Amino acid sequence: MKMEYIKEIAPKLFLCDSPTGFSKNINEMLLNLLKDLGYQAKLTNKGNVKLFIEGKDHSKKIATSAHVDTLGLMVRSINGDGTLSVTNVGGPSIPTLDGEYCKIITRDNKIYTGTILCRSASVHVYEDAKSKPRDLDSMLVRIDEKVHSKEDVVKLGIENGDYIFIDPKTMITPSGFLKSRFIDDKGSVCAILGVLKELKDKGELPAYDTYVYFVNQEEVGHGAATTDNVDEFVTVDMGCVGKDLAGNEYEVSICAKDSGGPYSYELTTKLVNLAKENDIQYVVDIFPFYGSDIGAAWRSGVDCAGALIGPGVHASHGMERTHLDAIENTMKLLYLYLTSK
Ligand SMILES: [Zn+2]
Repeated sequence: MKMEYIKEIAPKLFLCDSPTGFSKNINEMLLNLLKDLGYQAKLTNKGNVKLFIEGKDHSKKIATSAHVDTLGLMVRSINGDGTLSVTNVGGPSIPTLDGEYCKIITRDNKIYTGTILCRSASVHVYEDAKSKPRDLDSMLVRIDEKVHSKEDVVKLGIENGDYIFIDPKTMITPSGFLKSRFIDDKGSVCAILGVLKELKDKGELPAYDTYVYFVNQEEVGHGAATTDNVDEFVTVDMGCVGKDLAGNEYEVSICAKDSGGPYSYELTTKLVNLAKENDIQYVVDIFPFYGSDIGAAWRSGVDCAGALIGPGVHASHGMERTHLDAIENTMKLLYLYLTSK
C-alpha cells in the first residue's frame, strides 16, 4: 500500500479546519486530490463530496464513505469582559480543550486567534483553578486582541454563531504514529484516498459499480442520510480503543455492533473472512458509545446491507492517536472489499 502517499496528504487534510457544517475548504482540497488521482467527483447540495466509479459488474451497487467533518466549537455569546462563551459542535471531550489554541472565523472571513480556557484559569487567583469541572458552562475563549468589553469584540466583527476551530495539532512521528486531535475521521479519509490511488496505479476497477462519499455532517448524526440507494455500504470510521475492547492503534477494527445495534451479519462476516484469508491484522469489536453513517443511511430509508471498518484510534474525541499500521490494514481490507466479488 502507498504509505508515502498517505504521509504526503495527511498533514494537508488534517491541518484544514473542517468542523461539521464548515466544509467548503476541505471539500475543495478533496476535489483537487481526487482530480490529481484522475477521478471526477461532485459536490452535493448538502456539502458531501460524491464519486461514482463504474465497476466490472453492474448487477450490484456498493458504497463506501468516510467523514471529513470534525468536532469544533461555536460562539454562543460574547461576555461583558471581552471573552467568548461557547457551544459545542459535535461531542468533543470538553476537559481536554482546556488550554488549547483556537481560531475564530467571522462571516466576512476575518480570522482571530485565541485560547480555550476554564473560567477559573489562574492558580494564583482561583481556589478551584485545578478542581473546577471543565464543562461547556465553565469554559471560555480568550481572544488575542486588546478587547475589554462586549463592544470591543463586536467591533472586531465577531458574532454569535461564528465557528471556533480547535487547533488540530498534527504530526507523524518517526515511529509511525499519526497524532492529531481529529484522526476521527480524517485517518479514514486518507485510507480511502490511498485505496483510490492504488486502484488507479494498478489499472484495476472495483468489482461492482461503486459510490464513494466524503461526508460532512457525520458528527451530528445525519452525514450519509442523503446517499443513493445502494445494495451494500461499508463505511470507514475510527475504531474504538480502551477498557475491554479488542481495538488498538495498529489493526483495523471491524465493528459488529454499536449504539445503533448490530451491523449486517453477512456483510460483516464477509469482511472478517477477507481479513482472515489475506493475513490482514484485524479485530472484531463492539463500540459501546458510537453511531456511524450506516445508521444515518438506514434511518433515512436506504435499503442496504451495512458494515463498519476503520483504524483503531486512541483517546477518541480527546487528543487522538493512531499508527500508520492501522491505516494500512484498513486500506488493505477496503481494497479487497472493493475489488472482490
Ligand atoms: Zn467518526
